[in-house]
Amino acid sequence: MTEHARGVSPGRVNLIGEHTDYNDGYVLPIALGWRAQVDATGRDDDAVTVSSAQLGDSVHISDLTPVAHQWWGYVAGVVWALRQRGHAVGGVDMALDSHVPLGGGLSSSAAIEAATVLAVDALFGLGLSPADMAEVAQAAENDFLGIPTGPMDQRASLWCTEGNALLIDCRTLEPRQVPFALPADLTLALVDTHSPHVLADGAYAQRRASCHRAADLLGVAALRDVTDLDAALEKLGDDDILVRRTRHVVTENDRVLDAVAALEAENWNRFGELMNASHNSMRDDYEITVPTVDQAVTSALASGALGSRMTGGGFGGTVLALLPTVALEDFTARLQDDYAARGFDAPTVTTTTACPGGIELRDRA
Ligand code: ADP
Ligand code: MG
Repeated sequence: MTEHARGVSPGRVNLIGEHTDYNDGYVLPIALGWRAQVDATGRDDDAVTVSSAQLGDSVHISDLTPVAHQWWGYVAGVVWALRQRGHAVGGVDMALDSHVPLGGGLSSSAAIEAATVLAVDALFGLGLSPADMAEVAQAAENDFLGIPTGPMDQRASLWCTEGNALLIDCRTLEPRQVPFALPADLTLALVDTHSPHVLADGAYAQRRASCHRAADLLGVAALRDVTDLDAALEKLGDDDILVRRTRHVVTENDRVLDAVAALEAENWNRFGELMNASHNSMRDDYEITVPTVDQAVTSALASGALGSRMTGGGFGGTVLALLPTVALEDFTARLQDDYAARGFDAPTVTTTTACPGGIELRDRA
């Protein structure tokens, strides 16, 4: 065992493929430049301590058992999940320092879990595979904290590579690196709409339930398995909600694969069209957008964006805009004006490229 080890892992943003994860479909995230860092130091006893530079808080846990609603659970839950799987993980002090913004839908939680598993793997010399790391990081959230999130976030944080997006098949959990190297004349802007996710939890559960009901009615394991959309929609008959939810999921899944083909062909116009189609489908069929995000998309298109869409679960959060680099300034100014005119809180615009995923750093033994 080394004395000390550090894990560093980023937040992520999903380029396309929304609400496809729990339908066994595809997602296509990139890693962001904001990262979480966890410094792990071995202890002589079995206890776990966790501190957060951002919260100015720390906890000492001598008996690790699942809990809900505790910020430190994203870190301590990783140690718990490793011990559950029989790994020899002793006591450890973990210092968390994260620059991934909270609440913008950029996955600050998975960044922390990923940084923790990287640090603990290095500290105790566990030699975990990338797949093991992702599973353990996800277990911290699902099984220790009891939050039923899908497989994307931890895999994006751990497995993304610089200059690539990561296609994940949420059924097999197979990853594939897809080139995402923007030419200098194009920019990917991220708009934090600063809108609250008030209705999000209940609406999310409803969407999931509708998808599972539609899959049952159609006799498929998941909506990913629908091969003939027209026939499926006819079978769902006059249940307008199920028809629209199914149409979003099936077409969105196709759009992810089409987006991969567009990126591989460096066809950015096509990629932009798919972003727009995705947004329209989320707005009209899945009904998960809100006026602030729709406005950001409208403002982006008015500034000459090739494409723009909400990313994340919906009801607020972040909007992506693929813009000519020369249009960025115009877009930022227009967006501020359009938001002010409608009485919305001022949005924040940043830009990103496809950044590296998680890394572990260890002292010499
Ligand atoms: P997201 O992952 O989209 O940012 P989540 O609700 O999944 O949103 O995760 C946010 C939670 O992660 C916070 O409520 C907090 O408990 C924890 N968290 C994130 N960053 C930190 C940090 N720097 N220090 C302590 N806890 C953090
Ligand atoms: Mg999260």
